[in-house]
Amino acid sequence: MNATDAASQAKPNFIDSHCHFDFEEFDQDREQVLSSCRERGVNKIVVPGVEPAQWFTLAKLIERYEGLHMAAGIHPWWVERVVLESNSALEQLQQNLVDFVGQNKVVAIGECGLDAAIATPMSLQVAVLRLQLEVASEKCLPVILHSRKTHTLLLQEIKGSPVAKGGVVHGFSGSYEQACAFWDLGIRIGVGGTITYPRAAKTRAAVTKMPLEALLLETDAPDMPLAGRQGQRNSPEYLPEVAQVLADLRGQSVETIAAQTSANASDVFGL
Ligand SMILES: [Zn+2]
Repeated sequence: MNATDAASQAKPNFIDSHCHFDFEEFDQDREQVLSSCRERGVNKIVVPGVEPAQWFTLAKLIERYEGLHMAAGIHPWWVERVVLESNSALEQLQQNLVDFVGQNKVVAIGECGLDAAIATPMSLQVAVLRLQLEVASEKCLPVILHSRKTHTLLLQEIKGSPVAKGGVVHGFSGSYEQACAFWDLGIRIGVGGTITYPRAAKTRAAVTKMPLEALLLETDAPDMPLAGRQGQRNSPEYLPEVAQVLADLRGQSVETIAAQTSANASDVFGL
């Protein structure tokens, strides 16, 4: 082994399990951000799908860069546009997702889920979530879940259509009891910028108490800036800072956090 190999082996290896790296906020400097990620040990990034048209552009992006992996799904914020404005039948959307997953390298279904803070009727959000849970189960893929003020309802939906391959509730904000309820169903907890805010006491306590095997790291960039960077673009480069806060909260080394959360991400997404 030469010195370079030894150095790269010693450096923690991180996986950003949720970053919208295809969004236009990164159009100007995507390659610079990626090389800065590599310098900091962030070697893999899972990029979620948000709507059918975007799956195709995302698939092209994934091919161009090493270390990027994609999911395909319909984000609750896009449901209004995808279903109501384009007047698409849910059966057709489901078929489109099945076809896309059959023809492209997709590591998960998502992001999908529920959001009580938007105007889209919850009954429609639930219907679009269900069709995606069905595809995940049919295609043996994990799910990437979005949940805002909907943990109870979402848990109920997952109990109704269990996902054999598990998944993650991303950008988790909630109590230890809620985190345990997801983990009991095989759903991991996505730990992001929220924990860098001291006021997020409940979420910090939850991720401190959960088994490390249940946790994934994420940035949700370009959204969810870390404490001290409010109003700025978030970036996958900052993932090690989330890991450091988690390490401090748990009284573990950042190397331990990096190794186990990367193993968890590899396990759930088959990376
Ligand atoms: Zn997201």
